[in-house]
Amino acid sequence: MRPITAEEPCVGTLPRIADVRHERFDQLGQGRRVIHSWFERGWRGRDNPESECFEPFIFTWIALNGWAECVTDLDRRDQDWVQSIAAEPDLAAVFHSLLSEDPVINEAAVEFTRFWPIPRLQALRRRAELMNSWHSNAQATETFARAGVDLGPRCAFRHQVRHEGIPLDWSHFLWALYRARCNLFHGEKNPYHWGDQAVIARGFKVLVHAMSRWRAFEQR
Ligand SMILES: [Zn+2]
Repeated sequence: MRPITAEEPCVGTLPRIADVRHERFDQLGQGRRVIHSWFERGWRGRDNPESECFEPFIFTWIALNGWAECVTDLDRRDQDWVQSIAAEPDLAAVFHSLLSEDPVINEAAVEFTRFWPIPRLQALRRRAELMNSWHSNAQATETFARAGVDLGPRCAFRHQVRHEGIPLDWSHFLWALYRARCNLFHGEKNPYHWGDQAVIARGFKVLVHAMSRWRAFEQR
């Protein structure tokens, strides 16, 4: 695996692969109602206890996935629509105002960052030397980066060597949550290091509240 160096570009600077065109979703017809129904199933679970957030998170993520593929017209690789919507200024602005206006969601977001960077768990499987040196995600950042283990966000080592925190903004949040989602959907579990219920519950609450402020999913 190719090492991740300190020169890895910050995910906050990655360009859109395709434009985000909101009107495409408005024109979707039946598909739009289906995507809304997935989001509703996520939204209804927004106050669930930590142990019951997997299912609403999965519905929320599927709604995000469906919406994002539609508005970007990118459906070949998840990373392509993730990169495109991560670079969308309107969504970044919504995320910023959510965190400044809602102290509960702000706290969930800050707690979510304590798990950053989130390593690609499949890359750690059967690599005892990496598992043995893994005490926390933040502490293992350099080891994982040098070993080429993908990280969410991928620029974590870049920020660490510059002695700056990983920014808590829309793009870093989305890339971290995307990595958590990949780990979850691939059925990996490692409760000691991973605390996966805590990770998913916090990421889910921030995502579902952010999406509830988007025109496509507006709840207020
Ligand atoms: Zn960065």
